[in-house]
This record gives sequence, structure tokens and C-alpha cells, in this order.
Amino acid sequence: MSQLDHRSPSCIAANVLAGQSREMLQRHFNCSARWVVAAPGRVNLIGEHTDYNGGFVLPMAIDRYTVIAAAPAEFPPADSAEVFSTEVGACSRIRLNEPMERGNVSWVNYVQGVVAGCVRQGWSVPPFRAVIHSNVPLGGGLSSSAALEVATATLLEAISGKSLSLVDKALLCQKAEHTFAGVPCGIMDQFSSAMCEAHRLLLLDCRSQEFELVPFTDPDVQVVIANSNVKHELTGGEYARRRSECEQAAGVLGVPFLRDASLAQLESARDRLDPVAFVRARHVISEIDRTVAAAQSLRAGDWKTVGELMYASHASLRDDYEVSCAELDLLVEIARSIGLDGGVIGSRMTGGGFGGCTVSLVRAQAVPHFISELTRQYRQGTSIEPTVFATQPSQGAMNLSDHAPGVA
Ligand code: ADP
Ligand code: MG
Repeated sequence: MSQLDHRSPSCIAANVLAGQSREMLQRHFNCSARWVVAAPGRVNLIGEHTDYNGGFVLPMAIDRYTVIAAAPAEFPPADSAEVFSTEVGACSRIRLNEPMERGNVSWVNYVQGVVAGCVRQGWSVPPFRAVIHSNVPLGGGLSSSAALEVATATLLEAISGKSLSLVDKALLCQKAEHTFAGVPCGIMDQFSSAMCEAHRLLLLDCRSQEFELVPFTDPDVQVVIANSNVKHELTGGEYARRRSECEQAAGVLGVPFLRDASLAQLESARDRLDPVAFVRARHVISEIDRTVAAAQSLRAGDWKTVGELMYASHASLRDDYEVSCAELDLLVEIARSIGLDGGVIGSRMTGGGFGGCTVSLVRAQAVPHFISELTRQYRQGTSIEPTVFATQPSQGAMNLSDHAPGVA
């Protein structure tokens, strides 16, 4: 357990929300918080559509958190807890004993799934009341779902006095999302929210689940997230199709995952591959190489190369993987046109694609101008208002209860 620096920007951000959630617990349930926990959202700097191919991703936690303030329930129905979400504006009951099944209120399933995972490990969870409060946008591609799950797991650790290893905690949360929320996600989101640290990126091997924290310590570089505020609904099952194209290519190459193939191997199998599967595989294999190279360049403080790798990642997602869209391309083009002279190091789409966010690396003093230019030119080009903000690699899940030992 590393020691928590309460003066760090991410702790300050989480503590502001913690104060508000304590107040709301008082107002809504008339009780004082005994436990307060926080878990962040995340953004992936590079490594897109590599996770289900057994490859690498390079995410970081952002300084936006889901905070839960909770207290023991005095007159409990012994088998339930009451939770209020300020974002949804609704209260719900969570079961603390079997049978714990998926219900029909979708947001509650994220919480119930984590409670179920903890109870099934033999933890006894006494009745409690809780307020969930968050500034991670819901459904905005910054993983509010993992923030909610990891915050819930951290709360249950605090309540029951038990603790999980960070890997087990992330895997328990992933399972909750699979089985209770019905979302077949990879491991990146929950790993990021559970184990990221301030001033570090998480180089995560999605096959072995091994990870390394890569320093990102230059105070002169900031991470800017721009939400295109579009989400193109595709009816053709694009995600499932990409996955099966990757499996097809791996099959022809005779490897379990595309992670195991090189670009040279792919090139020599070109004649045996369907042309679409070929370009999909070219994205995946080159993106895994770029992710490892970006971590290496970060360690060397070579920002220029990191930026070039980000632009190359975007081009590959746009042209070979075909998961970008006009709005994301425009955001990246605006960033590129501002360029190194204007303080922009690199930019790319982040997340599954067809809308959502871009992530850019920008020199600190250029950030205000970058945000206003990106907003102005994007609005002019699309008539859509983007949401743009600067952040930095932040601390993962924390126990902020009074007298808590430190980082969860
Ligand atoms: P993302 O993880 O990118 O934000 P998802 O669709 O995976 O998007 O998860 C969003 C869902 O998670 C919400 O629709 C809601 O059901 C649940 N959720 C996340 N944060 C909260 C919260 N603070 N309160 C209630 N539900 C939440
Ligand atoms: Mg999610």
C-alpha cells in the first residue's frame, strides 16, 4: 500500500467530491459518513482495439472520480443496503444476501454485481446507507462504469475490514460488469481505476494481466480530453465483426492471438488473407508495437516520438480499422494544424470509436489556447459543442474515510 499524498491534485479533486457526498448523506439519510471512498475514470493514451487481441494498452486514471459516502444503517432490514445516486437522482435497495441476481434497474446492477462478488467470497456485509456522487460523465467513454464498480468494491473493503489484491479487485469488478450489467468488457477499465497512480501511465498486458507503471512526470505536459459529443449508432454489429475479422486473421496466421504475429508474418500471408481481415490485422499488430514504443519513448522523455505514435495510431484506426468518424477526424486535424509550434505534441481518437473522445498531449502553457481553438473550430465545422478539459495521470481508488490508512 503506497502512502497517499493528500496535497496531490487528484486527492484534492476527490476530496472536494467527498465533502459534497458527506453533506448529501447527511441531508438524504440524516447520518454522518463513517466511510468515504473514491475511484477514478480513465482515458487510454494509446493501444486501441488491442485488448481482445491479447495486446497492450496504455491508460491512465483521470482526476475525475466517483465517490461514495456511507454509514451503518441503524434500523436495518438486515439483508439490504440503501444507495442514492446523485447523478441518476434515484435511490435503490441492494440485496446483501442470496439470492443476488441481476435486476431491471440498470445502474443498480453495477453496484449489486460488486456486492455479490464480495459476499460470494464469504465477506459479511452489514446493512448500510450510501450516497454515490461523481464527476465522471456517465456514458462518455471515460469509464464511469468501472469507477462505480471499483468505488463500490473499495467501500465494501472499508465496511467489512477485508481487502483484496488490486488485481483481484479489478477482476471482481470486471466480472460484475459481465454478469450483472451484461457488458462483455476487457480488463483495462477496472485495472486503471483500481491501480493507477498519480504521474504514472499503466502499461497493461491484456493477455498475462501483468502491468507496469510508466512515469509521466513532466509538469509541462498535460492531457487534454475532447468529447466530440457524437455517438453514431451502428446497426451492423461493428464491434463483433471486428473481433471475428481479427480471429479469422489469427487463424490464417496460425497464432492464438494477433499479439503473437509480426508485421513481416502478416505481409507474407497477404495472399491467403481476405483483404479486409488483412488491414484489420495490420492495425492491431502495428498498434501493439506503437503502444510498447510509446511507453519506451515516455521512459526516455521523448515526447516528439510519443506524439508521432499517437497520430499514427489515429490514422491506422481511421484507415485500416475503420472505426473513426468525421467528427473525431476533425478534432485530430485541428490539433495537428495547431501543431508542435502551438504546443500540441500529439492527438488521437480514444475508446471504441464511431464517436466519443480524442486524447491529446499539450504543453501546459498552450492548454488554454488549445482548448479555445479546438472548441471554436470544431463548433464551426460541425455545429456541435464539444466538451474539452485538461487532466493529468491521477491516483486510482482511495479510501478517504477518517483514519483510513491511505491508498486503497
Ligand atoms: P462509461 O463507462 O463509458 O461511462 P458505460 O455505458 O459503460 O459508459 O457505463 C455507464 C453506466 O454506468 C450508466 O448508464 C449507469 O448505469 C452506470 N453508472 C456509472 N456511474 C454512475 C453513477 N455515478 N450513478 C449511477 N449509475 C452510474
Ligand atoms: Mg463503461
